[in-house]
Amino acid sequence: MTGTEDLLARRRGGAALAPLDPAARAPASKVAVLACMDARLGVEAMFALRPGDAHVIRNAGGCVTPDALDSLRLSQLRGGTREIVLVHHEDCAALDEPAADLVRCLDRLAASPRLPHRDVVRGFLYTRGGELREIRPGRAETPS
Ligand SMILES: [Zn+2]
Repeated sequence: MTGTEDLLARRRGGAALAPLDPAARAPASKVAVLACMDARLGVEAMFALRPGDAHVIRNAGGCVTPDALDSLRLSQLRGGTREIVLVHHEDCAALDEPAADLVRCLDRLAASPRLPHRDVVRGFLYTRGGELREIRPGRAETPS
């Protein structure tokens, strides 16, 4: 059995999927989360997200790439999001220094003229020990 077949078998045994509610297209929290695609990061569980709560954008490292910026821009213009949460993590296969890269990403978002809303942008580092620490440019880490 391939990995995809395994997932489809699990889907057959899963709960019925809810229909897509067009009225709920805009995330209720008005937050877009950009996180690393690492399978160990359960972003939905991390923030207790339910369907419709937030846009979750994932790529290798949770990096602010041109594609990620396109998605964040669309999230703000079409989805009504106003805040951005970045999540990087220790033991990342895509990043050598995830905390330093997170600061660079926060700076990149703050300086991006492509984003209409960048007043609330926060970055978090998921540690090997399972803590979520807020990282602020120019400031010491603060536990969350
Ligand atoms: Zn990663």
